[in-house]
Amino acid sequence: MDTKILIVEDEKDIARMLDYNLRKEGYKTLLLHDGSFAAATAAKERPALILLDLMLPGLDGLDVCRRLKLDAKTAAIPVIMLTAKGEESDKVLGLGLGADDYITKPFGIKELLARVSAVLRRSRAAAPAPDICRAGELELDPARVAVTLKGKPLSLTAREFELLKALMASGGKMLSREALLEKAWGLDASVEIETRTVDVHIGTLRKKLGAEGKRIVTVKNYGYRFEAE
Ligand code: CA
Repeated sequence: MDTKILIVEDEKDIARMLDYNLRKEGYKTLLLHDGSFAAATAAKERPALILLDLMLPGLDGLDVCRRLKLDAKTAAIPVIMLTAKGEESDKVLGLGLGADDYITKPFGIKELLARVSAVLRRSRAAAPAPDICRAGELELDPARVAVTLKGKPLSLTAREFELLKALMASGGKMLSREALLEKAWGLDASVEIETRTVDVHIGTLRKKLGAEGKRIVTVKNYGYRFEAE
């Protein structure tokens, strides 16, 4: 499987150099020159690692790091901060916020690649593969972000997938609409998303699940639960 690395760096020369060398090493890369959408991109693309420049237009590296660590979808993605000389205190702060490593510019590409592979190795060793959830003819693989019905891949939106994952992983427990909003929409839940939105997405999800859709049981005036049996 491709190892995807998200590069967030506004200095075009450095970004291009990183992009070129990481690709040459066989990594898949995503490139952003601005911090504004870095956290959202990470939540959507789920890279294996993020190279994050500290001084960025839009949102700076520390704020991006803070957002990444607050969102369950991105909290476990390791971050290597790229800092310029003289940003020592920021460096420490970056690590305090959960950055896994930092590297000071200017750096040699060999050193950077070594750090990248060390951080990736550590994170793979630390993260146990999440369990595959099964119910009837339905199978959900959290690690591959994949759902199959009767062995055939099912095309779900990211929200539908997160809703189904939350329900299947709850062990039959009732989940309130608010809890589902938080799980499937992450931080965005604080923005104006109405809990009714959950019902709409559950509706489309149920349809896609066919006969297995009845496993998602409505709990009146509360939310939903999943019947695995
Ligand atoms: Ca910069």
